[in-house]
Amino acid sequence: MGKKTLSDVPCPVCKGPVTGVIVEEDSILNAKRVPVIVPAKCRKGHAVILFVDRAFVIRDVEAAGDAEQKKSALDKAQSWMDSF
Ligand SMILES: [Zn+2]
Repeated sequence: MGKKTLSDVPCPVCKGPVTGVIVEEDSILNAKRVPVIVPAKCRKGHAVILFVDRAFVIRDVEAAGDAEQKKSALDKAQSWMDSF
């Protein structure tokens, strides 16, 4: 089995292209769940997550970590508040 280059998608952060993302065919075809989550980066270095189906079509793109980082920062602030 070989590798496959996914088609370009726009970065959700800067709208620039996320290009040349290469995945192992096996990792998609043998995935237990689809869409498969593939981490990638746009040209400007934003971390994004691609949701790829078994036809190697990108179904969705999300900024990686963005929401989670904000949430964990809020949780941290909250726990500091609680300790006072
Ligand atoms: Zn970007």
